[in-house]
Amino acid sequence: AKNKGRSTYSLFNSQLKQSIAESSRLEHLLRAALEKNEFELYYQPQIELETGRLVGAEALIRWHSSDGMISPDRFIPIAEKTGLIDPITDWVMTTACTQAREWQNILPGIRVAVNLSAISFRQVDFVNKVREVLEFTQVSPDCLELEITETAIMADFKEAERILNSLDELGVHLAIDDFGTGYSSLSYLKRFPVDKLKIDKSFVMKLDQNQDDAAITAAIISMAHAMGTKVLAEGVEEKTHMLFLKERGCEEAQGYFFARPMPAADFLVWCEQEGS
Ligand code: C2E
Ligand code: CA
Ligand code: CA
Ligand code: CA
Repeated sequence: AKNKGRSTYSLFNSQLKQSIAESSRLEHLLRAALEKNEFELYYQPQIELETGRLVGAEALIRWHSSDGMISPDRFIPIAEKTGLIDPITDWVMTTACTQAREWQNILPGIRVAVNLSAISFRQVDFVNKVREVLEFTQVSPDCLELEITETAIMADFKEAERILNSLDELGVHLAIDDFGTGYSSLSYLKRFPVDKLKIDKSFVMKLDQNQDDAAITAAIISMAHAMGTKVLAEGVEEKTHMLFLKERGCEEAQGYFFARPMPAADFLVWCEQEGS
């Protein structure tokens, strides 16, 4: 038993070493990635369920590294730990707004949603940065939505309230991402000027297999409506899920059932096909 304990320990130790080595390699590659232009934004359609109309696009970052495509779930946490997240957020906001500006002539009123790391959201002068990007790209604040996770807000909700109020004054839209996975109480949320709750895909994806998830989803929709907030369901993969959500008055949806995230050029082709 003693031996077994030791070998488990050294296995753990070597896995730990390996994962530390891997993340410092990623960090190294990440530092050069912005200069080497290795990032790209993909866009995923957001659909208004009542009408089937395209109303928005969520911008999702992709990294084409020299090691191949690396998922944001892997590199965003490293970027957050190393201070690289702020320049990445700047790049994402500028690129997404430039794209939104370009689309206004072809897809009037389309809104582009950008994911915000808790760290960038709390950076000094973040609100001014958003204002500058909007001025620079000539995008109406109404066409930009910022997605902030429930956990990012609850980490310090006093400060979050202050920042969200300034962003609201600026006129951008605010959405709470991954809703349902944190521990926020709706009475706190009521104080924030949010326009939309995004129900986390972990609930939505199992809507027809898991009664609890269906009940939670239905409850989130009715509570959000009671607070005067819209709801978007993410991770809609099946028609039955779409219908469940539509029946309960969920305003918007996003997921593989409609379309996967795609490069900007493909997004336009998709819009043309859908529109015809
Ligand atoms: P998220 O914001 O919750 O984004 C939703 C994720 O679900 C995306 O993964 C999207 O591609 C995926 N997805 C969309 N529809 C479906 C579906 O029907 N089924 C399933 N199974 N998945 C679906 P992705 O693009 O890999 O992004 C992962 C996470 O990385 C995002 O989760 C977000 O937290 C983060 N992220 C992505 N882009 C950015 C960014 O520009 N900045 C920051 N700070 N974080 C980002
Ligand atoms: Ca998101
Ligand atoms: Ca608002
Ligand atoms: Ca999510």
